[in-house]
Amino acid sequence: MQEHYPSTGFGTLQSEILDRGLCTGCSICTIMCRLENIAFDGRPFMKQDCVNCQLCTIVCPKANGVSPVLQKEWESHNRYALIRSARSTDEGILKVCQDGGVTTALLWYALNKGYINGAAVSGVKDLNPVPLIATTYEELLSSAGVRYSPSPTHQALLPLARNNANYRKIRLGLVGTPCQVLALRNMQMPDMEGVVLEPSDHIEFIIGLFCMEQFDGELISYLGKKMDIQKAKKFKITKEGLNITFPDGSKTIVGHDEINKFVRYNCRFCTDFTAMYADISVGSAGSGNGWTTVIIKSDIGKKLYYGALKEGFIVENEKNPNTGMIERLTKRKMKQVENLKKAHDN
Ligand SMILES: Cc1cc2nc3c(=O)[nH]c(=O)nc-3n(C[C@H](O)[C@H](O)[C@H](O)COP(=O)(O)OP(=O)(O)OC[C@H]3O[C@@H](n4cnc5c(N)ncnc54)[C@H](O)[C@@H]3O)c2cc1C
Ligand code: SF4
Ligand code: SF4
Ligand code: SF4
Repeated sequence: MQEHYPSTGFGTLQSEILDRGLCTGCSICTIMCRLENIAFDGRPFMKQDCVNCQLCTIVCPKANGVSPVLQKEWESHNRYALIRSARSTDEGILKVCQDGGVTTALLWYALNKGYINGAAVSGVKDLNPVPLIATTYEELLSSAGVRYSPSPTHQALLPLARNNANYRKIRLGLVGTPCQVLALRNMQMPDMEGVVLEPSDHIEFIIGLFCMEQFDGELISYLGKKMDIQKAKKFKITKEGLNITFPDGSKTIVGHDEINKFVRYNCRFCTDFTAMYADISVGSAGSGNGWTTVIIKSDIGKKLYYGALKEGFIVENEKNPNTGMIERLTKRKMKQVENLKKAHDN
């Protein structure tokens, strides 16, 4: 199978990333290929011949890692980041959001003010994540909450990638896990002087989600054998395991022991907990129930957060977030990878 692919270009993704189980399913390579050679069904595959232009490997967060340009640019953003705990003030958002609804509230604020005309988010169909450009309040509400399997969110950018004249003026906010954030930044700041790879120039800001791990899509089929999973309203990972809430308010917890076998292999090699390269990062860790922890980094991140605060789209928690907890989780993620590498070397 492998000999079918050239040794560079998509061949590199195939042998170094896909065959080794390291693909995160971020889907950025599919929008990068100008020849539309890469199809996607949860993971990328070649449709036709590859010309070895290397663009897909340049943006792949696993093949290329973090470029020195990006690392340099974000070093000071991370050093001087502000950390807050906040929540949405909108009742509609609070009913459907995962934690404090800050993510959806910031997108709604940016849409409302005309800073963006859409948000690239994870939509949902039959509990599965699907790509969505949300342009209305209702569409934003439909995307709130968490899906714990990979969302091909970047595929929502496909029409923009094809340089369609109708889309020239589109400005978007984008929400993603740390690997998705890195993929997008690799397009915005590849190691090529002054180059920005389209369509990442349509993205005004990126909101990154804290992320410890993701699960294979099979988890939902497995849970479907135990309960009427399609009726589930909300999923949340806690210390106890996967908490599943149903519309009548009843809850079921499936322990970590049981769900661990569905953790994606690639996530075991991931060191980024807080979405280092996002303009704003959000998570539940560090804040109490019903609040979102927010790390504000770049100038655009500050403009977005303080604008939403000033205009009453969000409110701040009087209690500061527990930064020690975030540091501990960040270190735990890095340690896991270190241990795995050691075990591998021995
Ligand atoms: C896979 C995953 C793992 C996470 N792990 C942790 C963790 O270990 N610790 C922690 O503190 N926080 C974690 N989070 C973040 C946390 O669950 C909340 O998303 C975050 O606190 C924001 O809450 P909110 O109420 O502001 O979001 P909401 O306003 O409800 O908005 C949620 C946003 O998340 C997007 N989204 C949902 N599912 C996905 C997905 N699979 N991929 C990409 N985008 C998605 C939606 O499009 C929406 O824009 C994780 C999130 C995800 C998606
Ligand atoms: S982006 Fe370039 S290297 Fe990658 S599959 Fe397309 S043609 Fe091949
Ligand atoms: S770019 Fe994303 S989807 Fe493509 S191979 Fe890399 S990790 Fe997988
Ligand atoms: S653990 Fe890392 S690789 Fe896995 S989904 Fe989260 S950010 Fe992506």
